[in-house]
Amino acid sequence: MELIESRSIFSPATGFIRRGGFEWTCNPYVGCTFGCTYCYAAFLPQNRRPANEWGKWITAKKNAAALAEKQATKVAGQPVYLSSVTDPYQPAERSLMLTRGILEALLPHQPRLTIQTRGPLVVRDIDVLKDFRSLRVNVSIPTDSERVRQQFEPKAPPLEGRWDAVQQLKDAGVSVGVCVTPTLPIENVDTFARRIADFKPDVVVCQDFHDAGGRFGADTGATARGLLAEIGWGPADYRRFVNRLRHGVRVFEGESGFFPPPAAEAPVAVPAVKLFD
Ligand code: SF4
Repeated sequence: MELIESRSIFSPATGFIRRGGFEWTCNPYVGCTFGCTYCYAAFLPQNRRPANEWGKWITAKKNAAALAEKQATKVAGQPVYLSSVTDPYQPAERSLMLTRGILEALLPHQPRLTIQTRGPLVVRDIDVLKDFRSLRVNVSIPTDSERVRQQFEPKAPPLEGRWDAVQQLKDAGVSVGVCVTPTLPIENVDTFARRIADFKPDVVVCQDFHDAGGRFGADTGATARGLLAEIGWGPADYRRFVNRLRHGVRVFEGESGFFPPPAAEAPVAVPAVKLFD
């Protein structure tokens, strides 16, 4: 793992994050050792590494928390997306605690924060998360099948750990999104749709694969494309799942599901009561 001194920790949002209404992105790491086979971040030019090495390297911004302390005022009250090109709760975070440090620095400035992760480690920070007034934690749970998960994202955490994490977050009063993104082959559409509906997430997002044919941008990657063909899951299956899911919950699809949590309500001004003349 490479450790670097970064110059900045909050970057102006671009692309679908910007279109979703976010002003800032925050990435404590570059690269991601979860190494999902379909990850669009693998294709970003700032990696300066071949896409086929995705998942095998990580660069940590060792001064992330100190930078956040210095720069948090500029994102105060604004929509921040953590993280757009890495996972803030990948294994390195357990010891480095960069995401934790950023959260602690942000807390006094109360941004409208969205955390996007596959890492159940997020529950470690519930003590801080529950004090944000405008926060949503989106957890990616892209299939009901461990077999499929192991094929598409073998180094990412098992699915039941993610379900356990969203339950703990919800129990703590934290707003939770379940992101079935990208929607991987599903073994039992009815059961999975019912499980999501019964959980009652604040937001549910689905997204079919976008195959950009290897060009820059969101792409399944050649390995994932091969696996999709092998398993025999296609756009019609995706549509059947979304339609089934819509019986129980509101479903956002694709970019439309990535938007900031509502601004915290301003404290209600209590009119002064005149008790005595
Ligand atoms: S966890 Fe997210 S950032 Fe990491 S490889 Fe998977 S999709 Fe990419």
